[in-house]
Amino acid sequence: MKGTHYISCRWHCLLLLVLWLVLLHAQPAGVVYNLIFLRKILPAVGKQVWVIPFAILFNSVFGLALWSYLRGHCSDPGLIPDRWKEFVEHVGPALSIAPARLEWQPGKATFCKKCGIARPERAHHCNICGVCVLRMDHHCPWINNCVGFLNHKFFLLLVTYCLLACCVALFTSLPELLYCAGALLRLEHNIFYKEHHVQISELLSFLVFGFLALGFLGVLAPMLAQHAHLATMNATTIEGHYDNMPNPFDMGSTFPNLEQIFGIFGIDWFLPILPVRPLSDGVTFARNYETLGPDGLPQGMVRDYGQPWAMQEKLWRVRYQVRPAAQQEQPAQENGLDQLMGLTGCYAPCVSRDSATHDGLTVQMQQKGWNGYA
Ligand SMILES: [Zn+2]
Ligand SMILES: [Zn+2]
Repeated sequence: MKGTHYISCRWHCLLLLVLWLVLLHAQPAGVVYNLIFLRKILPAVGKQVWVIPFAILFNSVFGLALWSYLRGHCSDPGLIPDRWKEFVEHVGPALSIAPARLEWQPGKATFCKKCGIARPERAHHCNICGVCVLRMDHHCPWINNCVGFLNHKFFLLLVTYCLLACCVALFTSLPELLYCAGALLRLEHNIFYKEHHVQISELLSFLVFGFLALGFLGVLAPMLAQHAHLATMNATTIEGHYDNMPNPFDMGSTFPNLEQIFGIFGIDWFLPILPVRPLSDGVTFARNYETLGPDGLPQGMVRDYGQPWAMQEKLWRVRYQVRPAAQQEQPAQENGLDQLMGLTGCYAPCVSRDSATHDGLTVQMQQKGWNGYA
């Protein structure tokens, strides 16, 4: 009889475990940590003094993770801006358009056959979203959004804070997780309930929370290692496969490369907000052979706070090697840019207006597919 009771009780526990696994997916993990671990289990084992420090630590990290998730999910990942489209129309044939290839193409606008637009360097088409995205990294099913120029920072912070939240949850509750697991395995949960007023359902949900935190830790740690490695080289997930030349956007070391994504270092690095002092507009990116000033612009470029659009177009003209016919339209803007033009001259236009047109869409592009991006 005792054996039969033991087996049925084990099955009962297993079924409850599965049920709570399902339920826990539908409720925030923070509820279990706050309402069960901090409010009931920790005082029950005589560690009341740790409730407030643990609550502040966990909820700070957990809140930042939720905030990063919302920004990553809701943000525009970096749709091709209207200003770029106007620029393409404005300069016309003076802008060369290269075939879209899955290789480094610095300073080359490429044509998307699906969207029917010329897009800037590092932009790719996402087949899931059906749009081209500036400096596209990948389409993320976790946040159900593309990860691109405008939300790459939010994605990196999301993975980082989720991993930190898992670490905090596990390290602060590990003794109690082991204690509760022991009480359940020894079938002492009734005693546990009588002594500490913790119900078996709460014990189970707390244990499931611990298992899930451990599982997420195992998934997030390699994910963060992979994405952080690419970010420190200023390369996207798509660009990580390129080998036609050394990464032209690699600024040489970790910190300057992270600044290309997070903006100039400041407290905003740690918050899921747009960079306060960004170093790129998503349309053009600094090259490792350029000499940059303190504001991140190439030497010779002076930030014009009165007319930011004029400065932006001037930089595009230089980096995309808009040909002399268009340069002659704005001769006054070219002072001090000769050196930069000489540097960018190492990338020759590879498809002329003769073979690729903006308006007629008669582009003979040789595109090869790779993982749904082009
Ligand atoms: Zn497209
Ligand atoms: Zn997408």
